[in-house]
Amino acid sequence: MSGFVHLVGAGPGDPGLLTVAGRRALERAEVVVYDRLGTEELMPLCPPDAVLLNAGKSPGRQAMTQDEINAALVEHGAAGRRVVRLKGGDPFVFGRGGEEAEALRAAGVEYAVVPGITSAIAAPAYAGIPVTHRGVATSFTVVTGHEDPTKESEQTDWDALARVPGTLVILMGMGRLAAISAALIAGGRPPGQPAAAVQWGTTPRQRRVVATLGDLPARVREEGLGSPAVVVVGPVAGLAEGIDWIERRPLRGRTVVVTRARAQASELSDRLRALGAAVVELPAIRISPLPGTPELDDALTRLDGYGLIVLTSVNGVDALFAALAARGRDARALPAAATVVAIGPATAERLAAHGVRADLVPERFVAEGILESLAQTPLDGVPVLVARARGSRPELVDGLRARCAHVDEVELYEAVPEPADPDAVAAALAASHLTFTASSTVRSFMGLLGPGERAALRGGPRVVSIGPVTSDTARAEGLEVHAEAAEHTIPGLVAALLADVAAAAPAP
Ligand code: SAH
Repeated sequence: MSGFVHLVGAGPGDPGLLTVAGRRALERAEVVVYDRLGTEELMPLCPPDAVLLNAGKSPGRQAMTQDEINAALVEHGAAGRRVVRLKGGDPFVFGRGGEEAEALRAAGVEYAVVPGITSAIAAPAYAGIPVTHRGVATSFTVVTGHEDPTKESEQTDWDALARVPGTLVILMGMGRLAAISAALIAGGRPPGQPAAAVQWGTTPRQRRVVATLGDLPARVREEGLGSPAVVVVGPVAGLAEGIDWIERRPLRGRTVVVTRARAQASELSDRLRALGAAVVELPAIRISPLPGTPELDDALTRLDGYGLIVLTSVNGVDALFAALAARGRDARALPAAATVVAIGPATAERLAAHGVRADLVPERFVAEGILESLAQTPLDGVPVLVARARGSRPELVDGLRARCAHVDEVELYEAVPEPADPDAVAAALAASHLTFTASSTVRSFMGLLGPGERAALRGGPRVVSIGPVTSDTARAEGLEVHAEAAEHTIPGLVAALLADVAAAAPAP
């Protein structure tokens, strides 16, 4: 079988700026040759068994040379593998993608190019700077600042660039910014012309300095900006204040820790990122289905005898349907006459995805709320199935029994602690907010910390909890809870976090 190499542009850093074609290639890759800059967050898209080769510098190892990279692409391609060469921004914009394509062609290895969003356009855009603007700039020129403007051998004609009327976008120019600024002014660009530098554009670390061509080098030094950055010279840089949208986002400058299980983190993480936060995913737990027990077998066999079926979480729904599927059954096993109760809208949604409409979705998710919502439902002598996690609190089942229901409680899954990545733990301690969506995540998170780290939490990140049960657990674990969701859902949690930020001091 012949291999295939995709030369893929990863975009400038925001993982949302990868193209659909790039994503498909990554999802099918067997070998990925990547550069650190701008590509790291995309690595989880690769299949778990894909071989990842870092072509850039890594601790204790030199960067691969271009020849070595070309050779690796040819070798894996010729060996019949699906290879992705992943590069920041666009592969053909100062990415040496052209050389790689030539090497593959010469070796007879099939390849395709997947363009990416270049930092030359995206970093300015995320800083509120359109590279062209009606009546302001009708062209833009992208140039490397890597070459030394004071050397005779210089290929870049800064004099000519100074005379081109449109926007000038300079990549790799931070090291020589003062010389570039002087060369452009000497060539005729007015020193008072607006100019900007955008470092780590499109990422949560993005920083921007807007100044004039003359004073940009000094301002960049004052503000401590460095590589990687895009420099924009031209009147469009003066539009930044008016167009900027990044700095206006409410969680800009905040770092929020998401402790949910990895498989469930993305909804919360995505919402937080969209609001401008940097997100640290520190999955404290993993959902692990429990092996079948005679009680479970018995309950599933007698499913059509239940008058009321209570599902307490999305995981519970998944586990129930997995258990049914393992027995060759599906949604039709649920008795049509039974009242199905879903705790929380997300649980109801997941049920609907399995083809079952919940009859009742209690407004309050704590046991008392659920029991209240069942006030009109006859329970006396009614067979009830409660499907839930191991270690769940007894209140709900006790309450149902108090109303003379015949309750079978089956444990379908448990939340087990996930081993922590030390870097993520350190990032979590330095974060502005910790979020907890369940008691199990609180306990497991605290279990990851040593005594010193627990002490570091005092006066550290602010704690936001999804509801009173989780808050109680957090307090029992010695945490102060700063905000609690009024509606015990992910959107409710985000709303509580936003309110906490709005009420507290402005971003650092
Ligand atoms: N192929 C890439 C450019 C590679 S050259 C692209 O199309 O974007 C590397 C230079 O790109 C850096 O020195 C910097 O000038 C710029 N760059 C890359 N990512 C950036 C980012 N997120 N923010 C600002 N500049 C970036």
